[in-house]
Amino acid sequence: MLTIKALNKTYANGVQALKDVNLEIPTGLYGLLGPNGAGKSSLMRTIATLQEPDSGSIHFDGIDVMQDKEGLRRQLGYLPQDFGVYPKVSAEDLLNHFAVLKGLTRRAERKEAVEGLLRQTNLWDARKLKLGTFSGGMRQRFGIAQALLGAPKLVIVDEPTAGLDPDERNRFLNLLSEIGEQVVVMLSTHIVEDVTDLCPRMAMIVKGEVLLHGEPQAAIDMLKDKVWSKRVSKTALPEYQQRFNVLSSRLVAGQPQINVHADSQPDDGFVQVEPDLEDVYFLKIHSHQSNMGAAA
Ligand code: ADP
Repeated sequence: MLTIKALNKTYANGVQALKDVNLEIPTGLYGLLGPNGAGKSSLMRTIATLQEPDSGSIHFDGIDVMQDKEGLRRQLGYLPQDFGVYPKVSAEDLLNHFAVLKGLTRRAERKEAVEGLLRQTNLWDARKLKLGTFSGGMRQRFGIAQALLGAPKLVIVDEPTAGLDPDERNRFLNLLSEIGEQVVVMLSTHIVEDVTDLCPRMAMIVKGEVLLHGEPQAAIDMLKDKVWSKRVSKTALPEYQQRFNVLSSRLVAGQPQINVHADSQPDDGFVQVEPDLEDVYFLKIHSHQSNMGAAA
């Protein structure tokens, strides 16, 4: 279990990236969902001991992270957002090199670990290829392979699905989900679907604040019978946005279809729809924005 208490961080430029963040993160795949600039990387880098918070505490499996950074690092596998690879080196050679750095000094043990991880990430057949020839998805799977060296108990992956095509994204998320059967895997993303299907637990973070945390389904259930949908004309859209709490608007065959949050049918033509996590996400973001507006 990873326990984060009252974590705060303000950067030198005055941006408050973390505002009193409190989270309990159990074994399994944990989704940290938020728009760009929400503070996801700041939180993950802080947990990974790459930067200091201004205040607050982090505990993992009996380790007080601020007091024992080395202790945490021995348990940690980390895939940063901007994970770069040496393009001219093969996957097998680079993973072997990382394994040496990770302290796997005995040759036989290292060979076994490297082979196991290349197989687990489905890169065995590509192991002799230079990393520069890898697709985005293969590169991310390689990133996970290096993060898993040394059998970490805490795995942190920062926005790993950005830029992957749908097939690769699924494959990658399934891999994370498998890993999460045994260890804590923390995944940050701005893609709602990354969280909906695979994360038993999640947190939504906006402008450094945790707006919601728990099971995705529990959050969705809170909107039961309260999401209404209607196809409207493009010209009428601004009026709807003014009159109703429009959560989202997407084009269906070129025409806007809006989802509205309301206790009862807002207007003729609205039909009730099953809420999903995206509705929750937009509701939280909008109400946060209007609260901030009221406070300003
Ligand atoms: P996310 O990962 O959700 O996109 P970040 O944690 O990267 O969010 O950023 C949160 C906020 O902090 C943003 O407003 C960003 O511009 C700012 N920020 C991030 N890193 C720094 C830094 N090193 N110095 C100053 N501001 C930063």
